[in-house]
Amino acid sequence: MTAEIISVGTELLLGTTVDSNAATLGQALARHGITCRHRQTVGDHLGRLTEALQLALSRSDLVITIGGLGPTQDDLTREGIAAALGLPLVAQPALEKHLRAEFERRGLRWVESNLRQTMLPEGAEALSNPHGTAPGLWCESGDKIVTALPGPPREFGPMVAGPLGERLAAKSGSEPIQTRTLKVVGVGESRVEELLADLMAGSHPTLAPYAKTGEVHLRLAAQGSQAAADAVFDPVEAVIRERLGWHVVGRDDESLESRVLDLLASRGETLAVAESLTGGQVVERLCRIPGASRVLVGGVVAYVNTVKRDLLGVQPNTLQEFTAVSGETACEMAEGVRNKLGAAWGLSTTGVAGPGPDSEGHPEGLVFIGLAGPNSTASERHVFGLGREINRARAAQAALIRIYRDLVHI
Ligand code: AMP
Ligand code: MG
Repeated sequence: MTAEIISVGTELLLGTTVDSNAATLGQALARHGITCRHRQTVGDHLGRLTEALQLALSRSDLVITIGGLGPTQDDLTREGIAAALGLPLVAQPALEKHLRAEFERRGLRWVESNLRQTMLPEGAEALSNPHGTAPGLWCESGDKIVTALPGPPREFGPMVAGPLGERLAAKSGSEPIQTRTLKVVGVGESRVEELLADLMAGSHPTLAPYAKTGEVHLRLAAQGSQAAADAVFDPVEAVIRERLGWHVVGRDDESLESRVLDLLASRGETLAVAESLTGGQVVERLCRIPGASRVLVGGVVAYVNTVKRDLLGVQPNTLQEFTAVSGETACEMAEGVRNKLGAAWGLSTTGVAGPGPDSEGHPEGLVFIGLAGPNSTASERHVFGLGREINRARAAQAALIRIYRDLVHI
């Protein structure tokens, strides 16, 4: 069975609303083993919506529309579906009764335009919407299926998981697609591809790389039960881990930061962080992991020199001779936060986020990471230089990779 998604709404074309529903739906279709071949986005215009539906019906078995089911004049999806299928819209007294009761229960004033929400193309069924007033619809016509869901994401998501999901499971006839994601750090996408070219050429499982900020995600996918897919994934994961070594930092829910916390927890050691250009990003990423307080004692955002000096104990001489953007300062920040906060490890970031060079002429994207461990202190230098937000994110990533490497002895 092939599927096609049509997102309806002028705001989606203008880019003022991001089409998150289509992403939710794409994942649900994949889980149900239904191949989604196309996605269209169309504004709130009956003619263009009808055309989009006709095109979709000419090439896909299942067409799923998102949005345009509300009561207002720009909600035209019902009319478009009826037109594309050549069916009349028929009033549904049972739906009207239900909707009037719902308005009463919520103390809302009934408006006649709501009657539009109680019309369905002939032969269609309503899909219940527990979180809103506009029901979805499911319409089988010949060998095609058209189904429509309302746009608000907090209504859409539960309907995909609930009433639509049940119907997709019943119709799909294929086994679900299972996935496993391996997180890779400290090596670029092209090098990963080179090292895994033979595996990427395979189809069971398929293996595809996705470049993220300072990280590559390797997605394995196979169709079948979870147990059957695991049996296919396990040997391929073993080969990948053998070839990429420490670069494979985790799998699925595991992340670089969760691995750092786990590695430190298993040694019974604690961490303190001093951040300049990252402004708390390293600590924020660590804090997101439940149980971070086993390991993370705290952090200091030391943005200007006086804070680096007064709170962390960076020597005035160091700041004068080497400046704040230097390996020397990074080391003293790491040692300072380690001592002040009484942690086994101190980790630091300092650098030039940009845009442009700093007042001392250091180029945008120049970053130093400092790490003070139980036995030694060292710094490392990076040059990112791709814009302020990326520089800050890459610096936080580099800091976490720095301590991760130390913990796995690389
Ligand atoms: P509608 O169902 O078209 O009346 O849309 C109701 C609300 O859901 C509006 O705020 C839309 O911007 C939002 N919405 C509609 N379609 C989508 C979509 N595909 N992804 C995310 N939000 C959407
Ligand atoms: Mg709309």
